[in-house]
Amino acid sequence: MGEANPLLHFLFVSFPGQGHVNPLLRLAKRVAAKGLLVTFTTTIEFGSRIRAASQLIFPTESDSDLIPVGLGFLRFEFFNDGADPKNSIKDLSYLMTNLETNGPSALVDLIRRQSAAGRPVSCLVNNPFIPWALDVAAELSIPSAVLWIQSCAVFSIYYHFHHRLANFPTDKTLKTLVQLPGIPPIAPDELPTFILQSNPYKSLTEAILAQFHNISKARWIFSNSFDELEHETLTVFAEISPIIPIGPLVDVGEELEQEEIKADLWKSADHCLDWLATQETNSVVYVSLGSVVMLPANEMAEFAYGLRNSGRPFLWVVREDVRGLLPEGFEKAMDVEGKAMIVGWSPQQKVLASKAVGCFVTHCGWNSSLEAITAGVPIVAYPQWGDQVTNAKFLCDVYGIGVRLTAPATRETVENCVAVAVDGEEAARMRNKAETMREMARKAIAVNGSSDRSIEIFIDDVRKRVAGDGQSSVD
Ligand code: UDP
Repeated sequence: MGEANPLLHFLFVSFPGQGHVNPLLRLAKRVAAKGLLVTFTTTIEFGSRIRAASQLIFPTESDSDLIPVGLGFLRFEFFNDGADPKNSIKDLSYLMTNLETNGPSALVDLIRRQSAAGRPVSCLVNNPFIPWALDVAAELSIPSAVLWIQSCAVFSIYYHFHHRLANFPTDKTLKTLVQLPGIPPIAPDELPTFILQSNPYKSLTEAILAQFHNISKARWIFSNSFDELEHETLTVFAEISPIIPIGPLVDVGEELEQEEIKADLWKSADHCLDWLATQETNSVVYVSLGSVVMLPANEMAEFAYGLRNSGRPFLWVVREDVRGLLPEGFEKAMDVEGKAMIVGWSPQQKVLASKAVGCFVTHCGWNSSLEAITAGVPIVAYPQWGDQVTNAKFLCDVYGIGVRLTAPATRETVENCVAVAVDGEEAARMRNKAETMREMARKAIAVNGSSDRSIEIFIDDVRKRVAGDGQSSVD
């Protein structure tokens, strides 16, 4: 990096969650690749976990390592929110309160350190759950952007809910449909569960809606979506509040090959890729419910026997925190049969890109949904809460690339849904649609695609502001 002509420096601030860090880091890489310096930050505790899981991206213990990405550089520098790791892993409200109390001053210090090091921050980008990052940016006169990490449809639902712009049912058993502009009618049991009164996770509802209190401080609102996927929602919603799609934030092509720049909480079992390479095309059932969902032991058993009875090879992600819920002896029996692989964490994007994968049994987290779309893989949808249920509706009923597994799953329903997604007419129809969507997704992020252009415009805008008034940096 030339001292005489320092690169424009953006700061990306993430909530410490796997589903939050992944899309923000992928955006950080795309921005850096265009010839910028990007510092990526989250809590020091999350930082030490990703350091332990992905040593490749952290060659030394130093925070100042510059990682070349395309024409620019990425670096990591974590902030200390003073949290007690024992509490912050288990207790979301402790984590949120602690972040809210200590996060802002730690972030101010971090920003001032950048100025002192001769790389003042010209733009701050954060994701939801840490709305205070926008307040810090505003106080320091740094232009800011929010990356909404869910779909635009879900953004619109929360927006209408927060501003009381539509009637929402309080209970998912009610029959009333919610009618919002640019979105197909949504039944109560298809709404993000966090807005229903029956939702037990009130602190999550507060965390999500908190971003809507000060989102007007952001100069740009981005979403991890693409125009071709949610065209109508975006067009109609633009009249209320423009939201710019810059996704899918999924690594493809060269980005995927260089996927070692990632921030996994667990070490991924990369050897499963060798196993996949030995399997027939479209034969393997890939099962993963993301980084948070935990099924009760009886449902784990139904999944286990349903997958085994399907007679197909399967790759199942069972995180170490839920490993003990597998039926006794199941893993050993699978080892003996040699048709399945159970891993604690997978390199999911590479798994989905493998020709061997025939379908993806997923909880429909938005990252997993977009990764499946970008890989052109049909889905068996098993949503649990939050936006997952809304995503499942879109994947199955609107995009037509998924079949729904009703809850609670039984071994028979697991086996049937897998068969529908992998074999026969319905499977062929879903795979065709999935392949069309895969092409659209890749076009959007390719050079000059709709999402790529939006990122260029964003960077140019910041560049002009910095050149024009010099206000965009902190001294
Ligand atoms: N993931 C992964 N390996 C796994 C399971 C998940 O790398 O074995 C990644 C996945 O690719 C996605 C993220 O973890 O990017 C999960 O995010 P998502 O929004 O799908 O679900 P969440 O974990 O937030 O519920």
